[in-house]
Amino acid sequence: MLSSRVCEKNKDEIMAARPASTDSPADSSAAPSAAPRGDLAGRLIAWYERHRRVLPWRAPAGERPDPYRVWLSEIMLQQTTVKTVGPYFRAFVRRWPTVHDLAAAELDQVLHAWQGLGYYARARNLHRCARVICREHGGRLPDGEAALGKLPGIGPYTAAAIAAIAFDRPATVVDANVARVMARLGGVEEPLPRARPRIEALAAALTPSVRPGDYAQALMDLGSIVCTPRAPKCPICPWAGACVARAMGTAESLPRTARKRQRPTRRGVAFWAVRADGQVLLRRRAEAGLLGGMMEIPSTEWRAKAWTAKEATRQAPLRARWRALPGVVRHGFTHFHLEITVMAGRAAEVDGIDGVWCRIDRLGERALPTLMKKIVAHALARGP
Ligand code: SF4
Repeated sequence: MLSSRVCEKNKDEIMAARPASTDSPADSSAAPSAAPRGDLAGRLIAWYERHRRVLPWRAPAGERPDPYRVWLSEIMLQQTTVKTVGPYFRAFVRRWPTVHDLAAAELDQVLHAWQGLGYYARARNLHRCARVICREHGGRLPDGEAALGKLPGIGPYTAAAIAAIAFDRPATVVDANVARVMARLGGVEEPLPRARPRIEALAAALTPSVRPGDYAQALMDLGSIVCTPRAPKCPICPWAGACVARAMGTAESLPRTARKRQRPTRRGVAFWAVRADGQVLLRRRAEAGLLGGMMEIPSTEWRAKAWTAKEATRQAPLRARWRALPGVVRHGFTHFHLEITVMAGRAAEVDGIDGVWCRIDRLGERALPTLMKKIVAHALARGP
């Protein structure tokens, strides 16, 4: 355990880094931002030059990144891991190598290719955004955070990431990985989310005006492969000498988080309607709301209270002798857990029904979200 004087010295070093302007483009001729006891950004970039990850969307060292690829990867990486995104990213750029190609695609094609990545609003916004970029920006992504933030599906974090990585702007990028590194580096004991402004201020103070794009990617790599949530690899960290948490022996306990409220549970009923020739009924969900516009096994709304069979069948898509299948389908969304009971029935009437009939062996060709795939699997395992 080191003395608090050492930690105060480290804090001084961290805060001595010059705050970066986010308004002006990077000036590659300027001298590196210097902190008196070493240039933290410079040290990190030097580490990055030796240890950078090879990622399918990342430009090779010394080459300019393709803004289309940066944007596409940042949208895919929202709430999804690098490992999962890799094959999807490759398939997308193979099929739609430019923003013009993506804008010309049908939404259903994009949703279908997105299957398995979840959070389908991202795919819908991606497609909408491609069309806006082509229609209003001549097929080029704007290069500033403010203009990027006005595009569909691009929030403050993504705007900063694209501005930094694609256009080398000194934008401050703070995702969960970066927040963790900052909390540890600065020894921030206050729990998240209250500590967020302090962490962002620290991140902004460290963002350099020289090579901010490399710095942003270096910070992401540091958070992913060195300053990991558990067992951070402090001995090989380029910031070890300046890190307050390391000096205090508190790295693994930071960042602290306020106790989370338990996610509530919502419940719904899905109707597995099979007609005489074995085809099953699908329906398109309303545009607004979760899984908006996606195909579904027709379902009730999702609510806290459990459904009685009588209540549920009033919302069935057609008349049938509905039978509840044993067990429930469980699915987690960010803000709640969902439990779906599946009711199966043979469809006697088939005309005038809202939806489309689909052969069971062709369900795989439909853009069904993961939840619906779980319902299909549940019904096939237990249904008629
Ligand atoms: S020294 Fe350890 S805790 Fe501090 S930033 Fe590096 S890896 Fe993270």
